[in-house]
Amino acid sequence: MTTTIGVRVPLNDLSRAIKHDRDRLMRATEAVLDSGYVVLGPHTVRFEDALANYVGVDYAIGAASGTDALELCMRAVMPEGRRTVMTAANAGGYSSTAAIRAGFAVRYADVDEDTFCLTAESVEEALTGDVGVVVVTHLYGRLTDLTALRRLCDVRGIALIEDCAQALGARLDGRAAGSVGDAAAVSFYPTKNLGAVGDGGAVMTSSSAVAAKVRALRQYGWGRKYEVDHVGGFNSRLDELQAAYLLERLPALDVLNQRRRSIIERYREAAQGGALSVAPAIGSAHVGHLAVAVSEDRARIREQLSAVGVATDVHFPVPDHLQEGFPDTGQRLPITERLANSVLSLPCFPELEEHEIEHVCQAIGGLE
Ligand SMILES: *Cc1c(COP(=O)(O)O)cnc(C)c1O
Repeated sequence: MTTTIGVRVPLNDLSRAIKHDRDRLMRATEAVLDSGYVVLGPHTVRFEDALANYVGVDYAIGAASGTDALELCMRAVMPEGRRTVMTAANAGGYSSTAAIRAGFAVRYADVDEDTFCLTAESVEEALTGDVGVVVVTHLYGRLTDLTALRRLCDVRGIALIEDCAQALGARLDGRAAGSVGDAAAVSFYPTKNLGAVGDGGAVMTSSSAVAAKVRALRQYGWGRKYEVDHVGGFNSRLDELQAAYLLERLPALDVLNQRRRSIIERYREAAQGGALSVAPAIGSAHVGHLAVAVSEDRARIREQLSAVGVATDVHFPVPDHLQEGFPDTGQRLPITERLANSVLSLPCFPELEEHEIEHVCQAIGGLE
């Protein structure tokens, strides 16, 4: 294999974006300190407005994390009399965690081989009468078309939640990720496309009823201060500092998403006709959260890449239904299980330098 000697390409490096944004982050820090508000203050309100506006929904409600946002969504939209959340088992386990914490049962549907996502067909096949919520994860940055699934959910009286933690900014037919479901969750974990400098998340919805419920649930179930009129409240608020950082970073999101896409396209070109199949990230429906490739010979491929300094990881190695810490649903999910054994992620973040991208391309091209 011929590659540039000595280059080491990390899977991610958060220090680069922090360094790049440092002046703006420091100014935001000072603005928060000067304001005297530290939790759910004016920066949070401004960020919630900016996010709702960006996604094209009526309401965005800050939360402490993406997992909390998912739980808030589930608690807010689960129909009366039902207790089961249906989701994909290949998306990192966050929906399962949120559903279990909310006291709901979980059931899985298999995913599509090419989109890595649930489909109306796979959901319909796995449905039971108790399913009240379907969570779709737009995985790896790719916004999945929800037209058929939306129709199926409407017919069955099921609420649809979008997990946009990996797909913020993705747009399909003029609609953004997070604007089709009854509610949507997003995470601002630092490695996400819109990352905070710590934890954060948000719920997005155009339903005033769902928004009101989420606002109450994120703060002890309070309708009014000290009056608990919603069951199942907890404490999940967005810090002013994180809101201020996110306000600074949101305007650059589209440009950074484009940069991610173009990195993945470079890898794809380099992989043409070779041992590795890199999933496409073309057009505004994909925001390139992860550069994911598929290989039946994953261990060997990862070894070869590692040997020339290219870091890789697996998102995600153990499907939810096979995790020891989640309840056993007794299901088999052939495509999900096959993907768990064959996907790998390549370095993909906007601050990758040209010589690093070129190095990864050469490494991909030299795979045997
Ligand atoms: C990161 C992530 C989450 C969870 O977000 P946290 O802020 O870490 O709780 C949920 N869903 C998906 C798809 C994610 O990638």
